[in-house]
Amino acid sequence: TAGKMAEEIGTEAYVVGGFVRDVLLTKTNFDLDLVVESDGIEFAKKLAKKMDGRAKYHRKFKTAVVILPDGQRVDVATARLEYYEYPAALPTVELSSIKMDLYRRDFTVNALAVHINPPSFGKLVDFFGSQRDLKDRTIRVLHALSFVEDPTRIMRAVRFEQRFNFRIGGQTLSLIKNALKLNLINKLSGYRLVHELKLILNEKAVFSSIKRLNELGVLEAVHPMLTLNSARTQVLAELEKVLSWYSMLYLEPPIAVWKTYFLGMCMGLSKAKMEQIYDRFNFSQSERREFVHLREAIFWAAGNIMNIKQDLKPSEIYEILHPVPLEGVLFIMARTKREAIKKYISQYLTSLRLMKIDVSGDDLKELGLIPSPQYAKLLKQTKLACLDGIIKGKNEQIDFLK
Ligand code: ATP
Repeated sequence: TAGKMAEEIGTEAYVVGGFVRDVLLTKTNFDLDLVVESDGIEFAKKLAKKMDGRAKYHRKFKTAVVILPDGQRVDVATARLEYYEYPAALPTVELSSIKMDLYRRDFTVNALAVHINPPSFGKLVDFFGSQRDLKDRTIRVLHALSFVEDPTRIMRAVRFEQRFNFRIGGQTLSLIKNALKLNLINKLSGYRLVHELKLILNEKAVFSSIKRLNELGVLEAVHPMLTLNSARTQVLAELEKVLSWYSMLYLEPPIAVWKTYFLGMCMGLSKAKMEQIYDRFNFSQSERREFVHLREAIFWAAGNIMNIKQDLKPSEIYEILHPVPLEGVLFIMARTKREAIKKYISQYLTSLRLMKIDVSGDDLKELGLIPSPQYAKLLKQTKLACLDGIIKGKNEQIDFLK
């Protein structure tokens, strides 16, 4: 439909970027990006109308997203000749808009387009040797100033390299090293840095990506206190196992995986040193508070659980781990080398934490108790007794409350 529409309007439309890359790599990708050589917003509005969808847009960036009735999102961008603040970075030869649009992208593997106008529907547009690089499994920038223009691409290069098990090309690697020598990472705002880091920490191959960032000197450039040491390396490797185990269980609620890895990356830093890290990443007050709380909760719970000499009752495991956010519980699991403790944590995550009791405040009211903070205490005691199997079923729970 979009292709036909483009033809009717008299413009050219292309599917671009990650979608095309992933089709060629025979991987699924549900993010469809279109580039049109006319006003993208007008195009999106028309497309939405034709397909009974909705269009939302960003006037400033001349981009729009069309949400189709089945929920599929289609991003629509305008191919622009002028994009950079520093056009001197680009050759001034005449280029078609689509070529220019592709040229401003991060890597050759992301700079492919497929023409969707009917006469040439499905024709692959490859100006920069993208197909060759996909075949050679190489991440390569489009020009020598790429990392100067946008140093976040250094982290993106690692992300794609590790995701697809590609290699960063030789010249691109030298450009990264140069960019690091020039301290370009320093110029990045905390916000952009965190955004890229989160993308990496939410990928599958997190451990190898962090190692690669370390090897290239990116972690050091972000902050010297972030360089890997053997303790961090060990925990990060173990975290990858623990988190993939946890994700396979499809437990609720889903956790913020990146936070758990972030804890591992910062392991061994004092509270004061962490402040410097939060500063570098420009964390908000509430994000700082969250990490401060998370680290304290871990410290307290890990101390308690590691000091245990005898077997723990389920209620004791629950009492130690319940105050800790799940990200922290998984961190403790990765951190400990003791199998018995890993087992306790696994028991907590897969069953103790999810157990529900059959009585509630309503039952307490019926028993004639006036609502008060006492309610929570009584219900908690009931829960702990249930966890240990001392009482079972609603009747026994009510008797227990009495
Ligand atoms: P993913 O599979 O992670 O979504 P993607 O390739 O779709 O990968 P996005 O971050 O969604 O990545 O970006 C979409 C496209 O926009 C990319 O394919 C790339 O061409 C371009 N792009 C994104 N970020 C940059 C950047 N910092 N510099 C240049 N081009 C970029």
